[in-house]
Amino acid sequence: MFRSWYITIGSLSLSGRPITGDTHPKVSSSVTRLSPLRPMFAALSGPMGARGRIHEQSPDRRSRAPRPARNGKVARHGCRAGPPGARRTAMRALVYRGHKRIELENVPDARVPAPDGALVRTTSFAICGSDLHGYHGPVNEERIGSTMGHEAIGEVVEVGSEVRHIRPGDHVAVSAVVGCGSCENCQALLTARCANSETRVLNLGQAEAIAVPAADSSLLPIPDGVSDEQAVLLTDILPTGYKGVRGAGIQPGGTVAVVGAGPVGQMALETSFLFGPSKVFAIDQVPHRLEEAERLGAIPIDASQVDPVEAVLDQTGGKGCQHVIEAAGPQATVRIAFGVLAHGGTLSQVGATTDPEMTVNLMALFGKDLTYRVGLVSPQYAWPELVPLLQEGKIHPERVFTHHLPMSDGPRGYEIFDNRDDGVIKVMLDPTR
Ligand SMILES: [Zn+2]
Ligand SMILES: [Zn+2]
Repeated sequence: MFRSWYITIGSLSLSGRPITGDTHPKVSSSVTRLSPLRPMFAALSGPMGARGRIHEQSPDRRSRAPRPARNGKVARHGCRAGPPGARRTAMRALVYRGHKRIELENVPDARVPAPDGALVRTTSFAICGSDLHGYHGPVNEERIGSTMGHEAIGEVVEVGSEVRHIRPGDHVAVSAVVGCGSCENCQALLTARCANSETRVLNLGQAEAIAVPAADSSLLPIPDGVSDEQAVLLTDILPTGYKGVRGAGIQPGGTVAVVGAGPVGQMALETSFLFGPSKVFAIDQVPHRLEEAERLGAIPIDASQVDPVEAVLDQTGGKGCQHVIEAAGPQATVRIAFGVLAHGGTLSQVGATTDPEMTVNLMALFGKDLTYRVGLVSPQYAWPELVPLLQEGKIHPERVFTHHLPMSDGPRGYEIFDNRDDGVIKVMLDPTR
């Protein structure tokens, strides 16, 4: 029986029509979903589809033996290897050593982690706001000595014998969130909902190489027309901000507040305008973030100067906003988000929560008849919508990269980002330097 590689996405629209059901639009249950990323992007972007080679795909992964590597070599463990010389014994990585201590160290080189995995040599990676949680927060003893980061792109140098769609030589974005790759949710690209409870943030990204599990569902061959900076954003924060926007169900003419105008908030602010809101408020305390939000067309609210809830209520006739995106995570900003939410409104939280528990006034929430969505992003799920927007120049999220540093300056990059010095919004690191 023929098995289609393409997914059908129901109720998806960029025209601002209502989204029904969960934060994510529903995936048709009538279509088999098998790691469809490459065929999807081949269709999106013409004959080549993605940088690097497009390979003929098998319609049924169970019926075909593994192919030999492009150069004909079969590496150890049945892996298909890239160019000679790919093997090393050590690599450089940015390693967590405790409170505000990130060190550049030599660690054992990454290896293909399993038959369904791949080895990616990085070409760029970024520092994420959630990397700072372990950096400036209480010391996480369990993580001492581990590699930082989860926002990387690079070149595939080796794949396991069960990988069907990714090949050595592919230039890829590595999803920050991975799952088992084989359950129904992972195959529908919803890796944050892995039914085998293997959802995890792939915190291996700030190194010269990454061992990527479940490569077919974790890697995006970077399509033509998508820059390296944009591809790095596709690994996490652009899909995260966009998930917030999608979850808030913005209607044309609706009022929007984005709480937290850091990198994720900037992604939410920019993509919120795709849905035709009448007003978008940006709430933060950092002047240069608010200036950037204002350049996008948002109304800046400086929470260090005014009570942000009162300010938003004042400017909405006392009603608050129908669509609120929380893009920071701590209790304080979640409270602001609930505070600016209008009756009947929707709060969509994508800020990585740092406080395990929080007390809310259920009577007040009950009286507002509101919807609250919260959860980790599945970056892959948003790629089919975000890639065409990038290719057609409809969004320019790469504007957030204010600092480009060599990997050897990684510890300083953390310091700048954490101190919010020097007009920083987001820091990109170059592993070749
Ligand atoms: Zn991130
Ligand atoms: Zn899974």
